[in-house]
Amino acid sequence: MAKLAFLFLLLCEAASVAQAPSNPCQSCAEWNAPQAPFHIYGNTFYVGPHGLSSILITSSAGHVLIDGGLPESVSQIVANIRKLGFRVEDVKLIVNSHVHFDHAGGIAELQRLSGARIVASKWSADVMTKTGLSRDDPQYGVIPPIALVAHVQTLSDGETFRVGDIALTAHLTPGHTPGGTSWTWKSCEASRCLNLVFADSLSPVSADGFKFTKSREYPTAIQDFKKSYAFLRATPCDILLTTHPDASNFWERVGSRDRGVKPDPIVDSAACRQLADRAEANLQKRIAEESAK
Ligand SMILES: [Zn+2]
Repeated sequence: MAKLAFLFLLLCEAASVAQAPSNPCQSCAEWNAPQAPFHIYGNTFYVGPHGLSSILITSSAGHVLIDGGLPESVSQIVANIRKLGFRVEDVKLIVNSHVHFDHAGGIAELQRLSGARIVASKWSADVMTKTGLSRDDPQYGVIPPIALVAHVQTLSDGETFRVGDIALTAHLTPGHTPGGTSWTWKSCEASRCLNLVFADSLSPVSADGFKFTKSREYPTAIQDFKKSYAFLRATPCDILLTTHPDASNFWERVGSRDRGVKPDPIVDSAACRQLADRAEANLQKRIAEESAK
């Protein structure tokens, strides 16, 4: 099953395979498979379904939620938060990697349940509040729009947001979409504080006919991807989390940790650089495919 899921990801999300699936929800049931919530490190917890990360960062003054899965993930995310002993009503801030239906589809409902404020990049905020999807998205035409939210605060690159003692920093990592955003924060256990990174998707997936190398709608796609790789290679990174857990071999690392492997396999300071390397190799393949057409 794990192997199947990994293969699927190779096809759909992380790979050089060019086109987005024509029916995007052929994957939804697998992505939305139930997952018991669990502790990652310090004040950071996994609360998403098995195939779509949703991360809860907690403080005594309220919590932060990163990504909201599919619309049908919301009930799981809320139940998972409660199973951990927290309350969705105490989520004060919701942020997002990118505004595709599988990572932002549940945000409108999660915002309604929590009353949290939402911050997003300018491009993502426009999609979230006005249109639900955008023509300069490489997957425009093959993905459904997301449910709209009324108010989104626009962030700038490098801006830090605080909830209690949580300090969460936004990093623009475009390419997969023009508004893609990755997030960094520190979590501590006793005196050991680690750098956590929630990396946005970096796969060059598109609708039929879209070319990353030559797009009137998204002319900066290639340079955007390069900016995102540079961020991943430079940012302090002890624990890497990705929009789809399999993109960072997360379940293998969690499984090893659960079997008692030491040092903690979730902690890997090379993981962000390796993700950038894999993503760049996939883009190079995609560029070669586009050039051959
Ligand atoms: Zn996406």
